[in-house]
Amino acid sequence: MRTIEHIYIDGRFVAPHGRELFDLHNPATGEVIGRVRLGDADDVDAAVAAAKRALPAMARTGKAERLQMLEAMQAAMHSHIDELREAVLDEYGAPVSRSSWMADYAAAAIQVATHTLKDYPLEREIGSARVVMAPVGIVGLITPWNSNAGFICNKLAYAIAAGCTAVIKPSEMSALQTDVVLRALHEAGLPAGVYNLVNGHGADVGAAIAAHPDVAKISFTGSTAVGKSIVRASADSLKRVTLELGGKSPTIILDDADLDAVIPGVIEAGFMNSGQACIAGTRVLVSETRRAEFEARLKSAIETQVKVGDPRDPATTVGPMVSQTQWARVQRYIRIGQEEGARLLTGGEGRPDGLTGYFVRPTVFTDVGNDMKIAREEIFGPVLSILSYRNEDDAVAIANDTTYGLSAYVFGEPVHAGRIAARLDSGRVVINGAAHEPLAPFGGMKQSGLGRENGPFGLESYLEPKTLLGAHAA
Ligand code: NAD
Repeated sequence: MRTIEHIYIDGRFVAPHGRELFDLHNPATGEVIGRVRLGDADDVDAAVAAAKRALPAMARTGKAERLQMLEAMQAAMHSHIDELREAVLDEYGAPVSRSSWMADYAAAAIQVATHTLKDYPLEREIGSARVVMAPVGIVGLITPWNSNAGFICNKLAYAIAAGCTAVIKPSEMSALQTDVVLRALHEAGLPAGVYNLVNGHGADVGAAIAAHPDVAKISFTGSTAVGKSIVRASADSLKRVTLELGGKSPTIILDDADLDAVIPGVIEAGFMNSGQACIAGTRVLVSETRRAEFEARLKSAIETQVKVGDPRDPATTVGPMVSQTQWARVQRYIRIGQEEGARLLTGGEGRPDGLTGYFVRPTVFTDVGNDMKIAREEIFGPVLSILSYRNEDDAVAIANDTTYGLSAYVFGEPVHAGRIAARLDSGRVVINGAAHEPLAPFGGMKQSGLGRENGPFGLESYLEPKTLLGAHAA
């Protein structure tokens, strides 16, 4: 069993001022597999001070120097992919296909940021003015457990592309993954203080970063409730904030959709990352006329094709919930759904037979009303709700009747599906299972977030336009 004793400040691994040791669990067994020593608000002060010392030189770097840094980071992360996949499997329990994707994503995200910076004009003429895109300053980067390594690399890469320095607060539940990322990034040899990292609880380390007067911007990925507290904490120093928050995404099945293609798409959208995905399509909308056929086919596919179990078994499609707390939360929602009068189509409370870790039964409710808690609140587990619609206006109204707006899925004849997609209040809409585009903006409408990440929109969130009048190009 490993104990991670260090945080990272000013280019060095150092012991934190905080003394608390926090247990890390393997969610597939419940076993304690490691411990991490957590930092505190004093460590945040030291990390911000290091980022502040490094900022003037970093802000003066040009595109070529930043590209060199990004290329070194990407190569270093790439050489640790296998180690990262093992950490994701042990600590998080994502099925091996997903864990491998997550390990690859850490390096791939840096590559996309590199590509974005290459193409992005950091200076341009607008009328008689010269407009320079200046780094926003010191940024606080706060990540969730459900893709900790990927979010650290993604956020840090865009911060560096913009010429910022950073203080990172990773998920305290993902310290093994964080440790792999830190050792890789250290090998990349960036100047001391450009990035600093403090492990710790959200309520002390995260909150201290959000309130720190020297931090100019927060990029946060996590729950909507914590996102709101970050906006409040940021107000005093008018920090810029990018918030990537929760979702309750609709999957609309149009009457001209081919159910043979739809069923695997609905399962993939709903159960990706074992249901622990912000973009999971958890409200499944089908017309009243096709509902019976759809229900029968979805039930049969889940009961015969979805395999819950050991994340290391390549046949597994749904792994455990990340923690006992998350397991209990999913159980509570399954109870609530029954109390609210929804009908269980498959699954239910308890663990699948023979499994002892934090596993839940893939569950589908039908006869769900959009006013029920299971249709309104983010459950963050493999639990889907089927809602039926009378006509397409009704489908769009139900899909948009939510406080969230992160993602949506539409299945149907492509032109028809495109017309419905245009009417959805959602940061992105995926038509017929189309592939992700990493350069396109990613983020949510309504209470799913503020601002966008990725590609040029993501880079601009770390930049401030500065207008020079009477200046000549160097
Ligand atoms: P969380 O909000 O509990 O924690 C996220 C991070 O914030 C953690 O590092 C945590 O320690 C920290 N934190 C907690 N309280 C804080 C505070 N008061 N101040 C500052 N930081 C604080 O979320 P989670 O449980 O780790 O992750 C799951 C949530 O993240 C889900 O709601 C999911 O939808 C969301 N999420 C969103 C996206 C997206 O891109 N929109 C992606 C992944 C996850």
